[in-house]
Amino acid sequence: MTNTEETIVALATPSGTGAIGVIRLSGPDAIAIANSTFKGKDLAKQASHTIHFGNITDDDMILDEVLVSLFVAPKSYTRENVVEISCHGSNYIIESIIKLLIKKGARLAKAGEFTLRAFLNGQMDLSQAEAVADLIASNSKTSQQVALQQLRGGFSNQLQGLREQLVQFASLIELELDFAEEDVEFANRDQLKKLIHDISRVIGTLVQSFELGNAIKQGVNTVIAGRPNAGKSTLLNALLNEERAIVSHIPGTTRDTIEEVLNINGINFRLIDTAGIREATDAIEKIGVQRTMEKIAQSALVIYIYDAALLTDEELNSDLTKLQQQGVTALIVANKADLLSSQQIEKLNQSGILAISARERTSISELRSKIYHSAIKEQLDGNETLVTNIRHLEALQRTQEALADVLRGIDSVTSDFLSMDIKQALHYLGEITGAVTTDDLLDNIFSKFCIGK
Ligand code: GDP
Repeated sequence: MTNTEETIVALATPSGTGAIGVIRLSGPDAIAIANSTFKGKDLAKQASHTIHFGNITDDDMILDEVLVSLFVAPKSYTRENVVEISCHGSNYIIESIIKLLIKKGARLAKAGEFTLRAFLNGQMDLSQAEAVADLIASNSKTSQQVALQQLRGGFSNQLQGLREQLVQFASLIELELDFAEEDVEFANRDQLKKLIHDISRVIGTLVQSFELGNAIKQGVNTVIAGRPNAGKSTLLNALLNEERAIVSHIPGTTRDTIEEVLNINGINFRLIDTAGIREATDAIEKIGVQRTMEKIAQSALVIYIYDAALLTDEELNSDLTKLQQQGVTALIVANKADLLSSQQIEKLNQSGILAISARERTSISELRSKIYHSAIKEQLDGNETLVTNIRHLEALQRTQEALADVLRGIDSVTSDFLSMDIKQALHYLGEITGAVTTDDLLDNIFSKFCIGK
């Protein structure tokens, strides 16, 4: 995976021209290698967490004026010696300095190798390392907060405590195996049952939190469906507050699906404008309609909009039946309220249908709130632990199954089988925090990082 005897180097800032570029070195020789290229103070004699001005030189040629930050092991991100060289952000300078550092004995870091080392050296557990990747990728306040919470160990601490209690039981049961002849019971079965129930409850909550966690991290696929001229494009524009989709008077002209992202309270709703769900008459339209049905099937939320001034109750019911046949519960929106009488609007309100005018932009904020609450059932208070990672979800689900096995066997199977079931549950829990890892798993996680992270 990574040979920690080697000192690695990579650009830590994005490549391309910028005001500064930060080159990071980590490993036993980081300070010595940097020192061999640095004209200024003797870096080997400087204290940790200090910054030094000087030149990087290749033989006698000055490559750049730089600032060098020193982090002496173990007080660094990787717990190894780390040097960060802030140079001018030109591709040429950055490349020349990295080449020079390689010539002096460093090797180019692999994707995620700095964070991998931080994990291997005990700086953070696996779920925290993954949170680093999430934090870098976060694109809204909510996703940033969820990643930060995980980075601070909220998620791991909760699991670690549970795992320790279960380990204790496992060892008591192991002890019973040593005294198999005497038929003693060290592990109180009622207490074990209670513990398993407690753990299952916590894990159940974590598993449930994935829906929200995933929505925060990935966004919610949302489809606006409705007949031609219902006002889908106008609604899309009203929601986005900009003129993006082309609004036209000819039915069925929004032929291509358009994707836009709408941010409501920190959740990204990926809005897909569609070609309508009525029976298609011509070939191009048909493709659009087929695509609409595919999009509807893939979406987590469907907003069905109709022209309330035009559509008859029969037509409306026929559309809703079609959606139902797809297994879709749609958020129903009556459009063109500006053309309705107040009695008609009142009647819609009474049946729980939101009446809006996409063109006049009335009741759009009510609609935004409805969209949010259709997708996000739970309340976010900013402190809860949310599972955002599919790998964690799967490990939690497998833990749940293993715990169910323990419960099933608790009164009937012998200690050795019970011990095996508990170990299985411990294994899956350990996969989340990295107490149990394989090279493949680590490869899979860290290869998704960028180089320099
Ligand atoms: P789409 O085919 O479903 O995308 O419908 P469009 O957004 O292109 O709208 C079709 C027509 O209905 C356009 O002429 C819009 O200006 C009009 N329209 C959209 N929303 C409203 C509304 O709230 N009130 C009225 N009176 N007309 C609207």
